[in-house]
Amino acid sequence: MRRMEPWSPPPRPYFRSLRRGLAEKCPHCGKAKLFYRYLKVEPVCQTCGHDLDRYPADDGPAYFTILLVGHLIIVPILIIFAPLIWKVSPWVTVPALVIPVMIITLLALPRIKGGVIGVLYALNVTRADARFHTADAAD
Ligand SMILES: [Zn+2]
Repeated sequence: MRRMEPWSPPPRPYFRSLRRGLAEKCPHCGKAKLFYRYLKVEPVCQTCGHDLDRYPADDGPAYFTILLVGHLIIVPILIIFAPLIWKVSPWVTVPALVIPVMIITLLALPRIKGGVIGVLYALNVTRADARFHTADAAD
């Protein structure tokens, strides 16, 4: 007896979706803007009409941004400037370290959120799948 394979949606190119998301473009068509404000996702794509509100980025973008900034920027800064940190006034070191980290974080966050939405699009993870990834939705 032949076993039936479960139906699965047509595959979506992973890296193309990620690249479009990182460029803050709709992962479906790659043309329209993904955000209508800093981090507010367009509910529906202005070009292709794809439902963009269905992808639950949640805390993922903040997590990946902290991971990136914390490990790739703060640690090298501390290693490079460690000899100077205790010799120079805190009035110089704190703004000199905090301001660049703040700017990099604010620039990275929407791109990373776009990338997370692009990956969710490629993997077809939607809010309807919340019971699989969120303890709050388990009843
Ligand atoms: Zn689109």
